[in-house]
Amino acid sequence: MYDVIIIGGGPAGLTAGLYNARARLNVLLLERLAPGGQVLTTDWVENYPGFPDGVSGFELMDRMKTQAERFGLKIQSDEVAGLELSADRKAVLTAAGSLETKAIVLCCGATWKKLEIEGEDQLMGKGVSFCATCDGPFYRNQEVAVIGGGDTALEEAIFLTRFVSKIHLVHRRDKLRATRVLQERAMSQEKIEFIWDSIPVKILGEKGVEAIELKNVKTQAVSRKSVQGVFVFIGTLPNTDMVKGLIRLDENGFVVTDDNMQTSVPGVFAAGDIRSKLFRQISTAVGEGAAASYAVEKYLESLAG
Ligand SMILES: Cc1cc2nc3c(=O)[nH]c(=O)nc-3n(C[C@H](O)[C@H](O)[C@H](O)COP(=O)(O)OP(=O)(O)OC[C@H]3O[C@@H](n4cnc5c(N)ncnc54)[C@H](O)[C@@H]3O)c2cc1C
Repeated sequence: MYDVIIIGGGPAGLTAGLYNARARLNVLLLERLAPGGQVLTTDWVENYPGFPDGVSGFELMDRMKTQAERFGLKIQSDEVAGLELSADRKAVLTAAGSLETKAIVLCCGATWKKLEIEGEDQLMGKGVSFCATCDGPFYRNQEVAVIGGGDTALEEAIFLTRFVSKIHLVHRRDKLRATRVLQERAMSQEKIEFIWDSIPVKILGEKGVEAIELKNVKTQAVSRKSVQGVFVFIGTLPNTDMVKGLIRLDENGFVVTDDNMQTSVPGVFAAGDIRSKLFRQISTAVGEGAAASYAVEKYLESLAG
């Protein structure tokens, strides 16, 4: 019987693990891939405090893992398929079997929807980005494409106008889905040019993005734009399949918690990108991982009476 099982080894999970292991709880972290989470897919991180010159995504996560393991965090390579939650029993189901625990912290993160087109995977982190806050400053005075027509796409495009010289905003329809106020704000930006009824079909470049190929869905005409960056904002999918029907999720499938990371089920906590919230970053994930670990300790104390 574990005191706590943490599911997911990104920044949120490794921080919760560091704190709980340091507090001498019997804690296990389960990660289906290599520990590190989404940060492993980014080349360079410039906005995580403590690294004035920036740090590679790999190095940052390797340091977080080493620090947590130094305090005794056990990390097991396993994918969680489901949970069993009842008033007197909590179990985490993996391919290796069922693991019983008193508390659970969900740190499974989220997955950005990809375009699934040629060039996207090869140029990820070399011009293809899913985060303007993270990567915008790398594109000073350059031309970029932004893909999407919802609130996130417009917010990120407006943010990018601080850095880039021009944005080609590519949307598959002739109307935006974003809220009216954001539409008005984006339309008033001189740097944003809208390309309607179009979808990206190929991203071109060798060492970095050089151009994007677009297809007009009405005329089928294919055109090419020279850009140095492609920002994709066509939606985020939370990794919450295992908890559907068990805990409260918001309308987009993200986990709803209170300020202390407590979900709708006592003893089940959530931290990081999996949570229903506005801002998904390494620093927010780390802060929430720490908060969740403290809430776990308080919960275990309450069980002990
Ligand atoms: C390309 C890119 C660049 C970014 N750049 C920056 C940046 O510069 N600065 C910044 O602050 N933020 C950046 N971000 C955002 C940042 O990476 C995330 O906000 C952060 O990683 C969220 O941490 P997390 O621990 O909540 O989730 P994640 O990092 O998503 O980690 C979740 C982990 O859970 C695991 N997992 C999921 N389901 C299961 C399961 N069923 N069983 C076992 N394990 C499971 C996953 O494999 C993953 O390792 C970037 C994101 C991307 C995609």
